[in-house]
Amino acid sequence: KRFGDYTLSEDIVRALDSLGYASPTEVQREVLPVALDKRDLVVKSQTGSGKTAAFGIPICDQIDWNENKPQALILTPTRELALQVKEDITNIGRYKRIKATALYGKQPFALQTTELKQKTHVIVGTPGRVLDHIKRGTLTLKRLKYLVIDEADEMLNMGFIEQVEAIIQELPTDRITMLFSATLPKDIENLSLTYMKDPVHIEI
Ligand code: AMP
Repeated sequence: KRFGDYTLSEDIVRALDSLGYASPTEVQREVLPVALDKRDLVVKSQTGSGKTAAFGIPICDQIDWNENKPQALILTPTRELALQVKEDITNIGRYKRIKATALYGKQPFALQTTELKQKTHVIVGTPGRVLDHIKRGTLTLKRLKYLVIDEADEMLNMGFIEQVEAIIQELPTDRITMLFSATLPKDIENLSLTYMKDPVHIEI
């Protein structure tokens, strides 16, 4: 199967082509149809499987460029992953001119607040800093359509689960939630049971 076989916009297929992605990886083949069908997802897969594009492609495809408020929030356990995911989203959304903003600790608030005042479609960030911006009123998520919890087990190991839950409380309930994790311990299963709507389970 090739990317052109899915109901993806021309801008996205062209971006994947220019990235040299000839055909979808296994996780992308499993996730794409389900995500494009707007179902919640719990995905057990390793880093290196192409999981970032598995959520990045449907999100970039569904973004409405004209909407000024963020439409997708991707939570990551580390700053490094946040920056990597931001770069991947920017690349996939290149021809749609999708703007992504990374929010993480140890960078001045002022810099991030200035960026948040401009149009941004996708927020990628670590839970603590994302929550701080919500509390300060510098990040509004009332138009959110997609939530991704990336490397959920790492999030748990680093003690971020309470912050993740506090963020979820601030989001519209009418949204699509996708959770990615290398392992699915009980606490992660519980998270999915509490905050997701009849999720499709995929294991790679
Ligand atoms: P990830 O699992 O998201 O960290 O992705 C691992 C690597 O695979 C990254 O360097 C991606 O750029 C690359 N990649 C993702 N999807 C594809 C694809 N369909 N074809 C070729 N490379 C890909």
